[in-house]
Amino acid sequence: MMNTLLEFDRAHIWHPYTSTTNPLPVYEVISASGVRLRLAGGLELIDGMSSWWAAIHGYNHPVLNAALMDQASRMSHVMFGGLTHEPAVELCRMLVDMTPAPLTKVFLADSGSVAVEVAMKMAFQFWICQGQPQKNRLLTIRGGYHGDTFGAMSVCDPVTGMHDIFSKVLSRQYFVSRPKCRFGEDFDEADMAPMRDILEEHHQEIAAIILEPVVQGAGGMFFYHPLYVRRVRELCDEFDVLFIADEIATGFGRTGKLFACDHAGVSPDIMCLGKALTGGYMTLAATLTTNRVAQGVCQGRPGVFMHGPTFMGNPLACAVAIASLSLVQHSDFLTNVLRIESNLALGLAPCRNFPYVAHVRTIGAIGVVELHHEVRMAEMQKDFVSHGVWVRPFGRLVYLMPPIIMGDEDLAMLSSAVVKVVSGHHL
Ligand SMILES: *Cc1c(COP(=O)(O)O)cnc(C)c1O
Repeated sequence: MMNTLLEFDRAHIWHPYTSTTNPLPVYEVISASGVRLRLAGGLELIDGMSSWWAAIHGYNHPVLNAALMDQASRMSHVMFGGLTHEPAVELCRMLVDMTPAPLTKVFLADSGSVAVEVAMKMAFQFWICQGQPQKNRLLTIRGGYHGDTFGAMSVCDPVTGMHDIFSKVLSRQYFVSRPKCRFGEDFDEADMAPMRDILEEHHQEIAAIILEPVVQGAGGMFFYHPLYVRRVRELCDEFDVLFIADEIATGFGRTGKLFACDHAGVSPDIMCLGKALTGGYMTLAATLTTNRVAQGVCQGRPGVFMHGPTFMGNPLACAVAIASLSLVQHSDFLTNVLRIESNLALGLAPCRNFPYVAHVRTIGAIGVVELHHEVRMAEMQKDFVSHGVWVRPFGRLVYLMPPIIMGDEDLAMLSSAVVKVVSGHHL
């Protein structure tokens, strides 16, 4: 039985960033609970990935389950055009409350990439309606990742962003090198020069700066100085450019603050949220903006914001998001992120002694071991499974972002598995 399932999968199904003709092996997971994934065959793995930043409260959580079932018994979906409902209203009320004060308007999207498309469209439509249609390009920093749709791809890192082969069909945007000042180091104002230079020359064409504040995720797990984000905000004001913060990966506590922008004490003009929004239960994202941008978008022709997904404001997703955010607002949540940070810092430290390790870093509930060479992912993953943990490295990076509920003992096992596996894969 199991074989036929995996055989069908192998023959017919595309997984993220994979070949269907020569796929790498996948593991069948039959259930998940707390911080553990149970594989077919009975093996249990400690989850070090939170299912790509999303499952912050772990799996099969009683509160999230109840919210979902309760909503399913009333209404699973209804169109959002001309209709509204309590789950959407309550969720948006929470988002407006939790995010920085100037963000007051919420657009519910179906995935992170769509939230990024929506943010870009808002910025472009804003400038068109201000009589400045020539402000139709974006400026970003290298090393970013913003999603896999065409607009989002155009601001991913042109080299490491996985989309370099599409360069001819993507909109051309402005890129500057990413800041040199890492998180926790001293800030050097010289870091701002490339961005200021581009703005001085091209601000008339630039609608917005988009970046992942403080933590660049899938583009390289790079942590940079919060003052850089503050200076970007100041430059945006100086040059009349909007500031889009992509907090899809960093939002809801992952970096030790509720939002990564909080490290810098700034508020963007547009903020994208996703990933952890529903605690990993349903696909849902949100794009928030200010009164100024919303008014700007809606005052020109056509007078409305031109976007409206079929599954916008899905009640099941909203209901589980409300439950997830209530757990995030609990006083223990950020304390647990900091507890995880010190655990990971301690647990991963031995990797610093390996000559083939270039850098070890932690921020919030993220721990990264950067090697000098690319890892052989499939082999390494198999090794992790044999150590009873689920870790999926990419490029030169082995990283952890466990569910925020993970206890100290499991964290220690996770880190020690990384130390062991990395030490066995140095060639
Ligand atoms: C994952 C991610 C996205 C894309 O979200 P999807 O839900 O995968 O479309 C966009 N921006 C950042 C920063 C992300 O980490």
